[in-house]
Amino acid sequence: MAKEAKAKVKAIDESSKTKTRRKFLGESGALAAASLTIPAAASAQTAAKKFAWDLVTAWPKDLPGYHSSLVRMTEQVSQMSEGRLTIKIRPGGELCKPFECFDFVSKGSAQMGNGVPYYWRSKSEAFQFFATIPFGFTSSETEAWIHHGGGRALATELYDSFGLVYFPAGGSGCQMGGWFNKEINSINDFKGLKIRYPAFAGDVLKKHGAIVTMVPAGEIYSALKSGQIDAAEWVGPWNDYALKLYESAKFYYWPSWHEPGTVNDIFVNKTAWNSLPKDLKAILTNAIQAMELDFNAELSARNNGYLSLLLNSHKVQLKRFSDETLTELAKTSKAIVEEAANKDPMTKKVFQSYTQFRYNVLSWGSVAEGGYMAARANIKI
Ligand code: CA
Repeated sequence: MAKEAKAKVKAIDESSKTKTRRKFLGESGALAAASLTIPAAASAQTAAKKFAWDLVTAWPKDLPGYHSSLVRMTEQVSQMSEGRLTIKIRPGGELCKPFECFDFVSKGSAQMGNGVPYYWRSKSEAFQFFATIPFGFTSSETEAWIHHGGGRALATELYDSFGLVYFPAGGSGCQMGGWFNKEINSINDFKGLKIRYPAFAGDVLKKHGAIVTMVPAGEIYSALKSGQIDAAEWVGPWNDYALKLYESAKFYYWPSWHEPGTVNDIFVNKTAWNSLPKDLKAILTNAIQAMELDFNAELSARNNGYLSLLLNSHKVQLKRFSDETLTELAKTSKAIVEEAANKDPMTKKVFQSYTQFRYNVLSWGSVAEGGYMAARANIKI
C-alpha cells in the first residue's frame, strides 16, 4: 500500500476509534447518571419482577435444529436472567396452528413467536425478502443485509405495524430442491405436478403449470403418503430425514434455486417487550443473536452426515435441475418478484433496499466464497 494511502487508512481508523470511545463514554456516562436517579426501592422492585412467557412456533415438537436451538436459547435466557425471564416453547398446534402464530402473538395471546417471514406473506409480500427470494441471497448475505445493510430497520418498521418487535433467528444455509417421484428433465415436467413449495418459488412453479400447496412441516409426510401432493421440499438432509420424506419419494433434487438461504424470524408482542426492564431486553436480544449462529452451525454440521445416510442406506438418488430448467425458473422468478414489488409501498421499499444491496454483495460473493468453492471443487490431490 502506498505511504499516503496507509496514512489515510490510519487516520480513518483513529477517528473511528475516538468516535467509538466518545460514544461509549457518553452512553456509559448517561447510564450512570440515569441509574443515580432511580430510587433503590423501585430498582429492587424491577429486579425482583418475574416474567413467564410463551413462545409459539410454526414447527412440530423436537424438530431438529428448529426446536433444539430454541431450547438452548430459552435456557440461556433463563440462566442469564437468573430465572427472572422464563420462556416456555409451545410447538405448532399446542396453543395455535403453526401458520397462525404470527396473529396469535400480534393480538397478545402469547408473548413470542418463531417461524419464517414468508409464512406471513398474505399480510405483505415485503415479509418474503427477510426470509429468502428465489435466486437471491445466501443465508450469510441475508444476515449481512439485515444486520449491516439496512434490512433490519425495514423489518422493524414492517413488524411494528403489526404490534411486533422483529428479530432475525438464524439462516438454514442453502436448502435442497425437494423430493420427487418423477424426474424433472425440463421446465415442462412441472406441469400438473401437485407440489408443496413455498412463497415466491411456489408462484414460479404455478406459472409453469404446477398445482402448488403449502402445508406446515408437520403435515408434509402425511400429505405425500395420502397422495394430496406428489412432491415436496422442506429444508435439507437432516430435517428432511427427521420428517421421513425419503419414504415417499426417491429423487432428491438440487440446487436450491428457491431457498438459497432462508432466515427465520422471532417476533415479540410489543406490549410484552415494553414491559421488560432494560437488562432483560438486552439478555433476550443477545440470546436470540447467539441463536442465529447456533442454528446455522448445527444445520451445517448435521447435513453432510444425513445426506450420506439418505444416499447409502435409503437408496435416495441425487438429481440436479438442468441449467436450462434453472434459467427458465430464474426468468420467471425475476418477473414474479418485480411484479410483487409494485403491490404496496412497503414491499417496494424493501425490494429496492434488497436490490441495491444485491449489487453490493454479488461481486464480492462470487470472488470470495463462490470463487473459493469453484477452485476447491477443481483441485484433485
Ligand atoms: Ca424450505
